[in-house]
Amino acid sequence: MILNEDQAKRYARHFSLKEIGVRGQKKLLSSGVLVIGAGGLGSPAIMYLAAAGIGTLGIADFDAVDCSNLQRQVIHKTGNVGMAKTSSAENFVRDLNPDIRVRRYEQWLTPDNILDVIGDYDFILDCTDRFETKFLINDACVLAGKPFSHAGVVRFEGQAMTFVPGKGPCLRCLMGEVPHDAATCRELGVLGAAAGVLGSVQAMEAVKYLTGSGDLLCGKIFSFDGLTMKVRVHSMPGADPGCAVCGSQPRIHSLSDNRDDYLIRSCETGGDQI
Ligand SMILES: [Zn+2]
Repeated sequence: MILNEDQAKRYARHFSLKEIGVRGQKKLLSSGVLVIGAGGLGSPAIMYLAAAGIGTLGIADFDAVDCSNLQRQVIHKTGNVGMAKTSSAENFVRDLNPDIRVRRYEQWLTPDNILDVIGDYDFILDCTDRFETKFLINDACVLAGKPFSHAGVVRFEGQAMTFVPGKGPCLRCLMGEVPHDAATCRELGVLGAAAGVLGSVQAMEAVKYLTGSGDLLCGKIFSFDGLTMKVRVHSMPGADPGCAVCGSQPRIHSLSDNRDDYLIRSCETGGDQI
Protein backbone atom coordinates (compact mmCIF):
# COMPACT_ATOMS: atom_id res chain seq x y z
CA MET A 1 0.00 0.00 0.00
CA ILE A 2 1.32 3.44 -0.98
CA LEU A 3 -0.13 6.44 0.83
CA ASN A 4 -1.31 9.30 -1.38
CA GLU A 5 -0.59 12.99 -0.85
CA ASP A 6 -3.81 13.62 1.07
CA GLN A 7 -3.13 10.67 3.36
CA ALA A 8 0.44 11.82 3.95
CA LYS A 9 -0.94 15.12 5.27
CA ARG A 10 -4.01 13.72 7.00
CA TYR A 11 -2.16 11.19 9.14
CA ALA A 12 1.06 13.20 9.71
CA ARG A 13 0.54 13.31 13.50
CA HIS A 14 0.31 9.52 13.57
CA PHE A 15 3.60 9.26 11.69
CA SER A 16 5.26 11.21 14.52
CA LEU A 17 4.16 8.56 17.01
CA LYS A 18 6.76 5.82 17.10
CA GLU A 19 4.03 3.38 18.22
CA ILE A 20 2.09 3.97 14.98
CA GLY A 21 4.21 5.55 12.24
CA VAL A 22 3.62 4.91 8.54
CA ARG A 23 3.61 1.15 9.11
CA GLY A 24 0.89 1.40 11.76
CA GLN A 25 -1.13 3.74 9.57
CA LYS A 26 -1.10 1.22 6.74
CA LYS A 27 -2.31 -1.41 9.21
CA LEU A 28 -5.18 0.83 10.28
CA LEU A 29 -6.13 1.54 6.67
CA SER A 30 -6.25 -2.16 5.90
CA SER A 31 -8.21 -3.09 9.07
CA GLY A 32 -11.89 -3.52 9.77
CA VAL A 33 -13.61 -2.50 13.02
CA LEU A 34 -17.25 -3.16 13.83
CA VAL A 35 -19.05 -0.70 16.13
CA ILE A 36 -22.25 -2.18 17.55
CA GLY A 37 -24.47 0.70 18.64
CA ALA A 38 -24.22 4.16 17.07
CA GLY A 39 -25.30 5.94 20.27
CA GLY A 40 -23.55 7.65 23.18
CA LEU A 41 -20.53 5.33 23.24
CA GLY A 42 -20.60 4.59 19.52
CA SER A 43 -20.60 8.26 18.49
CA PRO A 44 -17.17 9.21 19.89
CA ALA A 45 -15.82 5.78 18.97
CA ILE A 46 -16.94 6.14 15.34
CA MET A 47 -15.64 9.70 15.24
CA TYR A 48 -12.12 8.77 16.38
CA LEU A 49 -11.93 5.52 14.40
CA ALA A 50 -12.95 7.32 11.21
CA ALA A 51 -10.49 10.14 11.84
CA ALA A 52 -7.73 7.60 12.55
CA GLY A 53 -8.22 5.99 9.15
CA ILE A 54 -9.72 2.59 9.98
CA GLY A 55 -10.18 1.27 6.44
CA THR A 56 -13.50 -0.49 6.94
CA LEU A 57 -15.92 0.66 9.60
CA GLY A 58 -18.96 -1.54 10.23
CA ILE A 59 -21.80 0.24 12.01
CA ALA A 60 -24.65 -1.83 13.45
CA ASP A 61 -27.78 -0.22 14.86
CA PHE A 62 -31.48 -0.93 14.37
CA ASP A 63 -32.71 2.42 15.63
CA ALA A 64 -33.54 5.83 14.15
CA VAL A 65 -32.19 9.14 15.44
CA ASP A 66 -34.48 10.63 18.10
CA CYS A 67 -34.35 14.19 19.42
CA SER A 68 -33.58 12.84 22.92
CA ASN A 69 -30.39 11.21 21.54
CA LEU A 70 -28.77 14.49 20.51
CA GLN A 71 -27.71 15.46 24.07
CA ARG A 72 -24.94 12.83 23.91
CA GLN A 73 -24.89 11.05 20.53
CA VAL A 74 -22.72 13.68 18.95
CA ILE A 75 -22.37 12.33 15.41
CA HIS A 76 -26.12 12.76 14.81
CA LYS A 77 -27.49 16.16 13.86
CA THR A 78 -30.84 17.82 14.51
CA GLY A 79 -31.67 17.60 10.80
CA ASN A 80 -31.19 13.81 10.93
CA VAL A 81 -33.96 13.13 13.47
CA GLY A 82 -36.00 10.25 12.09
CA MET A 83 -33.16 8.96 9.89
CA ALA A 84 -31.67 5.50 10.52
CA LYS A 85 -28.69 5.90 12.87
CA THR A 86 -26.53 3.83 10.54
CA SER A 87 -27.24 6.28 7.66
CA SER A 88 -26.71 9.33 9.85
CA ALA A 89 -23.41 7.82 11.09
CA GLU A 90 -22.34 7.01 7.53
CA ASN A 91 -22.98 10.63 6.49
CA PHE A 92 -20.80 11.82 9.36
CA VAL A 93 -17.96 9.46 8.44
CA ARG A 94 -18.09 10.41 4.74
CA ASP A 95 -17.86 14.11 5.60
CA LEU A 96 -14.90 13.46 7.90
CA ASN A 97 -12.75 11.02 5.96
CA PRO A 98 -13.22 9.76 2.40
CA ASP A 99 -10.70 6.94 3.04
CA ILE A 100 -13.22 5.00 5.08
CA ARG A 101 -15.45 2.30 3.64
CA VAL A 102 -18.64 2.14 5.74
CA ARG A 103 -20.74 -1.00 5.97
CA ARG A 104 -24.15 -0.48 7.54
CA TYR A 105 -26.10 -3.13 9.45
CA GLU A 106 -29.54 -1.70 10.13
CA GLN A 107 -30.81 -4.66 12.07
CA TRP A 108 -31.04 -6.30 15.47
CA LEU A 109 -28.05 -8.48 16.08
CA THR A 110 -29.38 -11.89 17.11
CA PRO A 111 -27.93 -15.33 17.87
CA ASP A 112 -28.77 -16.19 14.25
CA ASN A 113 -26.92 -13.37 12.48
CA ILE A 114 -24.21 -11.99 14.77
CA LEU A 115 -21.51 -14.52 13.88
CA ASP A 116 -21.87 -13.70 10.18
CA VAL A 117 -21.54 -9.98 10.92
CA ILE A 118 -18.53 -10.09 13.27
CA GLY A 119 -16.71 -12.61 11.08
CA ASP A 120 -15.56 -9.88 8.67
CA TYR A 121 -13.88 -7.68 11.31
CA ASP A 122 -10.55 -7.57 13.13
CA PHE A 123 -11.89 -5.88 16.27
CA ILE A 124 -15.37 -5.31 17.70
CA LEU A 125 -16.68 -2.48 19.89
CA ASP A 126 -19.63 -3.19 22.15
CA CYS A 127 -21.28 0.24 22.39
CA THR A 128 -24.71 -1.04 23.47
CA ASP A 129 -26.43 -0.48 26.79
CA ARG A 130 -28.36 -3.72 27.37
CA PHE A 131 -26.66 -6.53 29.24
CA GLU A 132 -28.56 -9.09 27.17
CA THR A 133 -26.90 -7.67 24.03
CA LYS A 134 -23.54 -7.29 25.77
CA PHE A 135 -23.56 -10.98 26.71
CA LEU A 136 -24.60 -11.90 23.15
CA ILE A 137 -21.61 -9.94 21.81
CA ASN A 138 -19.32 -11.46 24.46
CA ASP A 139 -20.40 -15.03 23.76
CA ALA A 140 -20.25 -14.53 19.97
CA CYS A 141 -16.74 -13.05 20.18
CA VAL A 142 -15.52 -15.82 22.51
CA LEU A 143 -16.95 -18.54 20.24
CA ALA A 144 -15.58 -16.86 17.09
CA GLY A 145 -12.21 -16.00 18.67
CA LYS A 146 -12.65 -12.25 18.07
CA PRO A 147 -11.18 -9.50 20.28
CA PHE A 148 -13.59 -6.86 21.50
CA SER A 149 -13.88 -3.83 23.75
CA HIS A 150 -16.70 -3.74 26.28
CA ALA A 151 -17.87 -0.50 27.89
CA GLY A 152 -20.82 0.73 29.88
CA VAL A 153 -21.83 4.17 31.09
CA VAL A 154 -24.58 5.59 33.30
CA ARG A 155 -24.88 8.97 35.02
CA PHE A 156 -21.35 10.44 35.24
CA GLU A 157 -19.43 7.16 35.33
CA GLY A 158 -18.46 4.13 33.33
CA GLN A 159 -16.19 1.14 32.89
CA ALA A 160 -14.34 -0.50 30.04
CA MET A 161 -12.43 -3.74 29.49
CA THR A 162 -10.96 -5.53 26.50
CA PHE A 163 -11.19 -9.21 25.67
CA VAL A 164 -8.51 -10.86 23.59
CA PRO A 165 -8.97 -14.60 22.94
CA GLY A 166 -6.69 -16.73 25.09
CA LYS A 167 -5.25 -13.73 26.93
CA GLY A 168 -7.64 -12.98 29.77
CA PRO A 169 -11.14 -13.09 31.17
CA CYS A 170 -14.33 -12.47 29.21
CA LEU A 171 -17.39 -10.60 30.47
CA ARG A 172 -18.95 -13.83 31.73
CA CYS A 173 -15.82 -14.64 33.74
CA LEU A 174 -16.49 -11.42 35.64
CA MET A 175 -20.26 -11.27 35.77
CA GLY A 176 -21.43 -14.87 35.45
CA GLU A 177 -25.01 -14.66 34.27
CA VAL A 178 -26.89 -11.88 32.48
CA PRO A 179 -28.32 -9.34 34.99
CA HIS A 180 -31.72 -9.05 33.31
CA ASP A 181 -32.98 -6.48 35.81
CA ALA A 182 -30.10 -3.97 35.45
CA ALA A 183 -31.13 -0.33 35.17
CA THR A 184 -30.07 1.59 32.05
CA CYS A 185 -29.22 5.18 31.26
CA ARG A 186 -32.85 5.68 30.28
CA GLU A 187 -33.83 5.34 33.93
CA LEU A 188 -30.64 6.68 35.52
CA GLY A 189 -29.65 9.44 33.09
CA VAL A 190 -26.24 9.93 31.51
CA LEU A 191 -23.96 12.88 30.89
CA GLY A 192 -22.84 13.07 27.27
CA ALA A 193 -19.23 13.85 28.13
CA ALA A 194 -19.03 10.70 30.32
CA ALA A 195 -20.08 8.59 27.33
CA GLY A 196 -17.48 10.55 25.34
CA VAL A 197 -14.70 9.45 27.72
CA LEU A 198 -15.64 5.77 27.58
CA GLY A 199 -16.28 5.70 23.81
CA SER A 200 -12.88 7.33 23.28
CA VAL A 201 -11.26 4.66 25.47
CA GLN A 202 -12.85 2.00 23.25
CA ALA A 203 -11.52 3.65 20.08
CA MET A 204 -8.07 3.84 21.68
CA GLU A 205 -8.16 0.13 22.54
CA ALA A 206 -9.03 -0.68 18.90
CA VAL A 207 -6.15 1.44 17.54
CA LYS A 208 -3.71 -0.08 20.06
CA TYR A 209 -4.82 -3.62 19.27
CA LEU A 210 -4.56 -3.09 15.50
CA THR A 211 -1.12 -1.48 15.70
CA GLY A 212 0.23 -3.68 18.51
CA SER A 213 0.89 -0.62 20.69
CA GLY A 214 0.90 -0.29 24.47
CA ASP A 215 -1.02 -2.34 27.02
CA LEU A 216 -4.63 -3.24 26.43
CA LEU A 217 -7.31 -3.38 29.12
CA CYS A 218 -7.03 -7.13 28.89
CA GLY A 219 -7.54 -8.64 32.34
CA LYS A 220 -8.15 -5.12 33.66
CA ILE A 221 -11.15 -2.87 34.24
CA PHE A 222 -10.84 0.85 33.57
CA SER A 223 -13.29 2.82 35.68
CA PHE A 224 -14.01 6.51 35.47
CA ASP A 225 -16.13 8.69 37.77
CA GLY A 226 -16.68 12.12 36.31
CA LEU A 227 -18.19 13.53 39.52
CA THR A 228 -15.06 12.91 41.60
CA MET A 229 -12.66 12.60 38.64
CA LYS A 230 -11.38 9.32 40.08
CA VAL A 231 -9.87 7.10 37.41
CA ARG A 232 -8.83 3.57 38.32
CA VAL A 233 -7.53 0.51 36.54
CA HIS A 234 -8.30 -2.68 38.48
CA SER A 235 -6.42 -5.87 37.68
CA MET A 236 -8.74 -8.83 37.50
CA PRO A 237 -8.11 -12.48 38.17
CA GLY A 238 -7.42 -14.41 34.96
CA ALA A 239 -10.06 -16.24 32.96
CA ASP A 240 -12.44 -18.30 35.13
CA PRO A 241 -11.98 -22.02 34.41
CA GLY A 242 -15.66 -22.43 35.34
CA CYS A 243 -16.87 -19.75 32.89
CA ALA A 244 -19.95 -20.87 30.96
CA VAL A 245 -18.51 -19.83 27.60
CA CYS A 246 -14.69 -19.67 27.83
CA GLY A 247 -14.09 -22.12 30.71
CA SER A 248 -12.62 -25.62 30.53
CA GLN A 249 -16.05 -27.29 30.40
CA PRO A 250 -18.30 -24.66 28.84
CA ARG A 251 -22.10 -24.86 28.99
CA ILE A 252 -22.51 -22.59 25.96
CA HIS A 253 -21.36 -24.27 22.76
CA SER A 254 -23.56 -22.32 20.35
CA LEU A 255 -25.56 -19.11 20.55
CA SER A 256 -28.77 -20.83 19.49
CA ASP A 257 -28.51 -23.22 22.47
CA ASN A 258 -28.49 -20.22 24.76
CA ARG A 259 -30.93 -17.86 23.02
CA ASP A 260 -33.21 -17.26 26.06
CA ASP A 261 -30.29 -15.53 27.78
CA TYR A 262 -30.17 -12.84 25.10
CA LEU A 263 -33.88 -11.96 25.14
CA ILE A 264 -34.41 -8.46 26.46
CA ARG A 265 -37.04 -8.69 29.20
CA SER A 266 -36.71 -5.39 30.99
CA CYS A 267 -37.57 -2.81 28.35
CA GLU A 268 -40.87 -1.91 26.81
CA THR A 269 -39.42 -0.91 23.45
CA GLY A 270 -36.63 -3.44 23.13
CA GLY A 271 -33.63 -1.26 23.74
CA ASP A 272 -32.11 2.15 23.51
CA GLN A 273 -28.44 2.26 22.74
CA ILE A 274 -26.95 4.72 25.16
ZN1 LIG B 1 -15.18 -16.30 30.31
